[in-house]
Amino acid sequence: MGELESGRKYGLKTRLVRGGLKRSENGETSEALYLTSGFAYDNPETAEARFKGEDPGYTYSRFANPTVSMFEERMALIEGSPVARATATGMAAVTTALLCHLRQGDHVIAARAMFGGCRYVVEDVLPRYGIASTLVDGCNLDAWRAGVKPNTKVLFLETPANPTLEIIDLRAVAEIAHAAGARLIVDNVFATPVLQRPMEFGADIVVYSATKHIDGQGRCLGGVILCDKKFLDDHLQIFMRNTGPSISPFNAWVMIKALETLDLRVRAMCDHASAVADALALGPKVSRVIYPGRADHPQAELARAQMSLGGSLVSFYLDGGKDLAFRFAKALKLIDISNNLGDAKSLITHPTTTTHFRLTPQARAELGITDGMMRLSVGLEDPADLIDDLQQALNSL
Ligand SMILES: *Cc1c(COP(=O)(O)O)cnc(C)c1O
Repeated sequence: MGELESGRKYGLKTRLVRGGLKRSENGETSEALYLTSGFAYDNPETAEARFKGEDPGYTYSRFANPTVSMFEERMALIEGSPVARATATGMAAVTTALLCHLRQGDHVIAARAMFGGCRYVVEDVLPRYGIASTLVDGCNLDAWRAGVKPNTKVLFLETPANPTLEIIDLRAVAEIAHAAGARLIVDNVFATPVLQRPMEFGADIVVYSATKHIDGQGRCLGGVILCDKKFLDDHLQIFMRNTGPSISPFNAWVMIKALETLDLRVRAMCDHASAVADALALGPKVSRVIYPGRADHPQAELARAQMSLGGSLVSFYLDGGKDLAFRFAKALKLIDISNNLGDAKSLITHPTTTTHFRLTPQARAELGITDGMMRLSVGLEDPADLIDDLQQALNSL
């Protein structure tokens, strides 16, 4: 009762609330939290059969756990992906999705505008193991094409990208990847599965930091890898079992409950972000606002084609440098200074000194990350209060 029938098509909201639900014999309304590291067997024959894969039961929570399985199944149903595996963090998802199948001598092309941790993995970690990487301007399709080598195995991107909110053409890059015999991996954190499902455009693997909008309430770290069954069987499953980036059942349970409201939260955040972006564009001391839902976004048309709404993040340039940016952040009374995003609480970030601090000044300049750039993650507060807060801070400068 109450579980989704397999093979039947349900709407996104239904999948968010009931996808993967598997009730125990007690018939609990909410998903059960199996906070256990291991499982006991009735007899050694069962243990043997489980390790051989002849009995589908659970063995150890590093391999699989009933609560984690519910979260994974719900994520797969939401994304329209054959399977999903949850990880302890978003970075564990990214690192695992790359390392589980790449080997010495392989080559990766990645869009240079990406989350700081992802860029570190691609630029610094992979080359240590003999996996070369090339960073390209993700919006330039010729740069992707020119980057392809005979040993290219992965194209990796994030759209909208952090913090520049540039939009990359998923379908076009997927075609380039497949023509080269490579896989396209998309970090879909900024769009969330509510706004954009990269597999519909040809992506092979999608990764999330569930820490962001999926939890969306600042409680737990988590990540997800979505892929096809063959990739899971050939690479991901055995790598995860033996290297251990598994999520805690408790965190998976928090994520399951959070997914129930993901659509409502993301839509409200997008409404608020759109209003905030329009107000900021009229504000004093703001030279430019970047929001994928605005007509003046350089790739507004592509954003509309790939995403159902503009997202919850707004970036903008203050007319000045670090000093002005810091004075602005300190003048905010409601919006918190934080490097996180996708939270119910609105959060302001100064990328130059935090998330993108590790990049060289030249790398930041290439991306358009200046000392006056701010990234705002718009939350669920009353948008009029957010706009008031931003305006009083701008007026104080
Ligand atoms: C936060 C984030 C990550 C990393 O996720 P964690 O859960 O913090 O490890 C990866 N990619 C993007 C785009 C992110 O915003």
